[in-house]
Amino acid sequence: MHRLQRAHGILVSDLDRQAIREMADSVDPGFCHGVHFNRPNWFSSPYEVVKAMVDEVSELGGEIVNRRVLSITGEDHSALVHTDDGSYSADRVIIAAGADSAAFTKELGDPVPLIAERGYHIMIPGPGIDLSLPVLFADYKVVATPMSEGLRLAGTSELTTDDSPPTAGRIESLVNLAPKLLPGINLEGYEEWMGRRPTLPDSLPVIGQARHHRAVWYAFGHQHLGVTLAAITARLVTQSIFGEKPVIDLTPYRPQRF
Ligand SMILES: Cc1cc2nc3c(=O)[nH]c(=O)nc-3n(C[C@H](O)[C@H](O)[C@H](O)COP(=O)(O)OP(=O)(O)OC[C@H]3O[C@@H](n4cnc5c(N)ncnc54)[C@H](O)[C@@H]3O)c2cc1C
Repeated sequence: MHRLQRAHGILVSDLDRQAIREMADSVDPGFCHGVHFNRPNWFSSPYEVVKAMVDEVSELGGEIVNRRVLSITGEDHSALVHTDDGSYSADRVIIAAGADSAAFTKELGDPVPLIAERGYHIMIPGPGIDLSLPVLFADYKVVATPMSEGLRLAGTSELTTDDSPPTAGRIESLVNLAPKLLPGINLEGYEEWMGRRPTLPDSLPVIGQARHHRAVWYAFGHQHLGVTLAAITARLVTQSIFGEKPVIDLTPYRPQRF
């Protein structure tokens, strides 16, 4: 794996116990082997990122309309979006509704086996420890990320029915793990969160055009990597809609592959 990453120019170095201490001394000293990815990037505040994008859209003359979409009907050159507060006509519609996208694609004649793969996090406002970079505890499938609002401990993958309530044990296991991984952490005032990863059986996203309604496009199903892959997917969809050749071949992502 690391050989493959190095071959693609990702700088990866092995860390021993001492090197882990030097890089992240809040991590439990029991960890004796780690891997460092050079120049990691992460969002310190996803909210601020989304807010900046909303501002940019407004500055460019776009309008953000916040409505619940009930259904979408399409033609070749236009589509109608029916919401809980009126209908909107558009030359092109992109369905990017995460784990809720499948209901729309089914109605449009492109059923996809999409599920909500649930994950959890706790947000710790005053952890009382210093972590200057995200740490993935690979054995436990938990990531600790320093953010502007505190320290976030995230992870777990839960396959269940979509309408079942959050599983308390998932949060409990994060809470129990926290002091083992990061001794001295102060969990006071932590907040709980559950999210739904849009996941398909082949782990690939759906990027492409509706079979019967050429004005409708799909962009969803990025499972654990939706934040990382959002920009490239936006580029691929934009290129496709404007008749340019996408920078990569989109065949593996076609909605009709199932
Ligand atoms: C615990 C956890 C940790 C994660 N960590 C990472 C990570 O480190 N890196 C990474 O890249 N990814 C990560 N992910 C995955 C990432 O969050 C998802 O892949 C990503 O959010 C998918 O983006 P999306 O826009 O397709 O869907 P969503 O983020 O789910 O957005 C879909 C939007 O559509 C809206 N919507 C749905 N139905 C309707 C409707 N009928 N009408 C109007 N609006 C509607 C929803 O309200 C929502 O705003 C993580 C996920 C979890 C749960």
